This record gives sequence, C-alpha cells and structure tokens, in this order.
Amino acid sequence: MDFNYEKYAQKINNEKSAELLLNAISRNCVKIGRPVSVMEVCGTHTHEIFKSGVRQLLPANLKLKSGPGCPVCVTDNEYIDGAVVLAQSPDNIILTFGDMLKVTGSFSSLSLAKSGGADIRIIYSPLDSIKIANDNPEKNIIFLSVGFETTAAHTAFLVKEAAQSGITNIYIYEGNKTVPEALKLIAFHPDVKIDGFLLPGHVSAVTGVDYYRPALTECKIPSIICGFEYIDILYSLASLTEMIAAGKNEIRNEYFRVVSEHGNKKAQELISEVFEPCGANWRGLGLLNNSGLALKPKYKNFSAAFKFSELLSRRYEHKFKNTPAIENCRCGDVLLSIITPAECPLFGNECTPENAIGPCMVSSEGTCAAFYKYAQN
Ligand code: SF4
Repeated sequence: MDFNYEKYAQKINNEKSAELLLNAISRNCVKIGRPVSVMEVCGTHTHEIFKSGVRQLLPANLKLKSGPGCPVCVTDNEYIDGAVVLAQSPDNIILTFGDMLKVTGSFSSLSLAKSGGADIRIIYSPLDSIKIANDNPEKNIIFLSVGFETTAAHTAFLVKEAAQSGITNIYIYEGNKTVPEALKLIAFHPDVKIDGFLLPGHVSAVTGVDYYRPALTECKIPSIICGFEYIDILYSLASLTEMIAAGKNEIRNEYFRVVSEHGNKKAQELISEVFEPCGANWRGLGLLNNSGLALKPKYKNFSAAFKFSELLSRRYEHKFKNTPAIENCRCGDVLLSIITPAECPLFGNECTPENAIGPCMVSSEGTCAAFYKYAQN
C-alpha cells in the first residue's frame, strides 16, 4: 500500500490521515468498478464505525456489513435457557458478564430469574469466581463462559487456578466460540455475498495471523486484521480495497502494533491445555462443527454441563413459551447481515435499548444497539 502507516500514526494528525485514507479508498473503489461489500466481523468495530460516522464518508459502491462478532448476540436460546434453570436452583450462584442478564431465551431471562430470587452476580473477570467460591463453600459457583478466543484464555486460566488450588465448587458453563468456522459459513452463504472481511483485533492478539489461514485460504476472501480506532478502520479499508482491486486474496495484519504473526503463545497454550474443539450452536448461523470449546476430559469435573446434566435437561420443558414479539425478532438475519436492523419490523418501536427484545439490541456490542444509538436509518 502506498500510504505509510508509521507516517500517519506518528507524524500526521488523524484528520489529515483520514482525508488521505478516504482518497485512497475512493481511488481503489473506482478501480474495482462494481459494488463491494465488506463485513466488519466484530461488534466493537461496528460501534466505532457508527460512532465515528465512517460509513457516511465511504464511496457509494463500498458497503459495510455488520457480522456476528458480538458474543452475547450469537449465544443461542438453548444456552440461555440452561443458564436460567441453573440459576433457579438455590444451591447455585451464577456469575456472568452484565450483558447476558437481559437476553431472553425461550421462556425467561437471567434478569427475571434474579428478580425471582436467583443468586446471579455480575463479575468483571473470570478470576473473580475464585473469591466467591472460597466465600461460599456450600454453594456451586457457575461461571457463564460466553465469548470468543480472548475470553477462552481467561476461562482456561481460571480452570487451571481452581484445579491447582483444589477448589471443587467452581463450574464452567461452556459457551465459548471460535471465529474461523463462522467466517467460512459467511463466505459461502448464498444470501450474504462478502468481498472482504475486517477481522477482530482483540481475538487476533491471542490467535495471531496464522490461525485464520486455513479457513480464509478455503474461502478466498481477502481479509484484514483491524484495530479499533476509526483511523485504523480507514487504514484497513484502504488496504482491503487495494487488495480487492488487485484481485489478491491475502490476510494482512494492519493492527501490527498489537497483533503478531503467531499471537500470544501463552494464551494459546492455556486454551489448548484446558479446552478442545467441539460443535457449537450460533444464533443465526446454526450448528457449526469445530466452532466451540469444551473442557477436556482432564477438566470435565469443572464442566457445568457435565455436573448438572439432569438439571439442564429441564430447560426443554419450557420451550415455546415466548411472547409473539420475541418470536418475531430477526437477530439471526441481522447477525448474518441479511437484513439491517432497520428492516426488522420491531426496530425502534417495540424494540429499543430501554425495552430490548433481542440480544442484538440488549448487548452493548450488538448491531441493533449501534444502529439505534448512532444511525437509525
Ligand atoms: Fe431483534 Fe430488536 Fe434487532 Fe429486531 S431490532 S432484530 S427484535 S434485537
């Protein structure tokens, strides 16, 4: 690329850099000469794109589509139903990140369970589980491990710490997902049609660049590992449109101040020591082989799904009790960018951040929440 990263990062103010990058994107889009769709896979990118107004500045033939990179949004109803029945037991304390509370599954939400007396606590790090387990030895402490590769490393560390400390009342409700299989599904989906991906910078800091090569080589979609400032996004789009114009199918790392070729080896070793790949159900994407992480047999005693399998089977007794509004939520289509949030009939009237119906509006990283807050068109 003819634009120098070091120059824009260190010597040129962002306003001037943005202008130069937008010019580069425009020139590339003229060369491409047809409509181009780029998916930002990550919810944090989606919010920065809306917040900064980047979308409105792009050439008319370059469209940004928002992908399934919000972990709360892609967590399916079956998992949420399981979390609710686990929470309803007086023997259990549920630990979760905040956004999970308000997501409604097939029959209830953690928030409703909490108002009914369930002991559900919001934590900011999986390691908070250790103190709570030590303070409550008579209770089962269940951490809802929802997230991508980044969160998986933290959960793996928790499991190892608990094992080494001899703590026996911590359980992991496995809900982690991994990115490559989702990229493949999107790339080959007949209704999506993507020319390039902006890949998540924080996941990539753990995984490195290599990690994506098998999946992206198979899909032949040019991709950029992208940082989270608007100027990173513009730079990545300039690099990506340059590749598309030249007919190249590479993976470029444009977030190299954070992401290395091979990633964080220690985090990867932790993940592969504690977890093994498994199939996972994604909201909107369905069941994808090798897209989830299950505890290895050595750590199975920490698995909530293993320990509480009988209790979890009760979630199926509650199926299909939802209100019609929830049944009409189009989050699955939003997560694949088959529709925009504004095309969901509930957007902005029945479904708002104050009265969110689907996870894409509930989650702070959700596409519907970003649309509502910054765009609404
Ligand atoms: Fe679901 Fe609300 Fe988004 Fe519609 S606007 S897809 S109901 S979250």
